[in-house]
Amino acid sequence: MPEPRIPDPALVVLVGASGAGKSTWAAQRYRTAEVVSSDQLRSVVGSGSADLDASADAFAVLELVVRARTGRGLTTVVDTLGLDAARRLAWLEVARQAGLPAVAVVFETDAALCRSRNSARDRPVPAPVLSGQLRGTAEVAPRLRAEGWDLVVRVGAADADPAGGVADAGLSAPGAARGERPAPAPAATARRLPLVLQISAFPWGEDPAGWLTAMASGAQEAGFAGLALMDHLIQIPQVGRAWEPLPEPFTVLGLLAGSAPGLELGTLVSPVTYRPAGVLAKTLATLDVLSGGRAFCGLGAGWWEREHAAYGLAFPPARERLDALETAAETLRALWAPGTKAYAGGRVSLPETTLYPRPVSAIPLIIGGGGEQRTLRIAARWGDACNLTTADPEVVTHKAEVLRSHCADLGRDPDEVGVTVLDLPVLGRDRDAVASAVERLRGRTPAAAFGRRHHAGLPDDHTRRYAALADLGVSRVFVGAQGLRRPEDLEPWSKVTEALG
Ligand code: GDP
Ligand code: MG
Repeated sequence: MPEPRIPDPALVVLVGASGAGKSTWAAQRYRTAEVVSSDQLRSVVGSGSADLDASADAFAVLELVVRARTGRGLTTVVDTLGLDAARRLAWLEVARQAGLPAVAVVFETDAALCRSRNSARDRPVPAPVLSGQLRGTAEVAPRLRAEGWDLVVRVGAADADPAGGVADAGLSAPGAARGERPAPAPAATARRLPLVLQISAFPWGEDPAGWLTAMASGAQEAGFAGLALMDHLIQIPQVGRAWEPLPEPFTVLGLLAGSAPGLELGTLVSPVTYRPAGVLAKTLATLDVLSGGRAFCGLGAGWWEREHAAYGLAFPPARERLDALETAAETLRALWAPGTKAYAGGRVSLPETTLYPRPVSAIPLIIGGGGEQRTLRIAARWGDACNLTTADPEVVTHKAEVLRSHCADLGRDPDEVGVTVLDLPVLGRDRDAVASAVERLRGRTPAAAFGRRHHAGLPDDHTRRYAALADLGVSRVFVGAQGLRRPEDLEPWSKVTEALG
């Protein structure tokens, strides 16, 4: 029976006798800094972990650490016997105050095993004391749920009852690499979901072309189905500083068409305000030809006034930009369609549609934005998908419904219009890597808030989230992986792409 998934961040309070395996369990699952241990603090404020005269000081420091960390929304594991009801309930209250889930992990390890581990220690707990701890654990265990813990995890019990929301974890071998959690609960579904890497920052050093081609190869090796670039003229403040390099995307995609033979290539998304739609149709058709039919086209209304002003481009009001978006979508469809006939449609009339070379495939048209009245309607009318800039399942569900209702209204088969999502995740191969990435990238945002916003987590965490999106009907995730510096940074993504492939 796998261990139930413990929420993260959370306050996790361990309960169990000496030698039950509490510290070992914590060290296998959490970073050193996340575990606050009364034994360890006794050796900080006293002469060693068994210096009982130092207990009061050790617990004073422990309480301070618990309050400080939980107050910052940081995962905290309290490694004490956990048998003192007053202390335990105070920690529960601290978690409530901090808005963190409160988890009790009770170690019902076999008494004989605890005794033999205890006697092997340098400073064993006296036998009657250990017996008292074992009795205490047996008494407390059944009462924990009634105390109000959000989750009670039972470790090592012979009779653990998974149906009751508690489970026997089964202890994994000690010495397993810290940060590697035991097998997680399986992801919701093994549904196929292509992931497309979105690159938005370009720390390419002295070799721009070499960096770009190496990143594309890295993306392919990590199992990404494609590569998407932002289409902006100045680096956007959400990503970096205005003087950091931001290449023109179609020039880059042309380079990558020749060097990354398996990847779908496109922009997410090109504002209609930059180029006349006919020119964009030509560019995409050429990219499709050069890449052997792997081009996709993201199209949006544009939003950032500054770059338009700086480059001498008009930036009309939103309504006009949305009109332009619809006109552009229709123009692309007309010019990509087979033949060279005249085209006369709702908004667009062209005397001929002579575009050679023609695209070698049907170029997917992805309309960016979740505006319910216009943008999703334009996607329903002209798009192969709409792209949402959130991976929040509730929002995705709602927008997908709106999209479907526009389809129904327009007589379009809703199965022809997908929903794609741009996600901006922080991924690390273990908890240490996740924590250091968050610390490097968070700027002045508190780590807990940054981690939440970017779903900072391990490959399994992202797999689970994406599988849930696939279950909602999401057809592709654009993965704007945060903090990419080198192709090696993409390696941990292979676990996610494999699980969803
Ligand atoms: P605590 O007193 O509850 O914190 O127990 P510890 O985590 O310090 O474990 C006591 C002893 O049992 C240590 O020597 C551990 O190496 C050993 N131990 C703990 N968990 C396991 C386990 O899952 N398997 C094995 N084989 N040994 C364990
Ligand atoms: Mg311990």
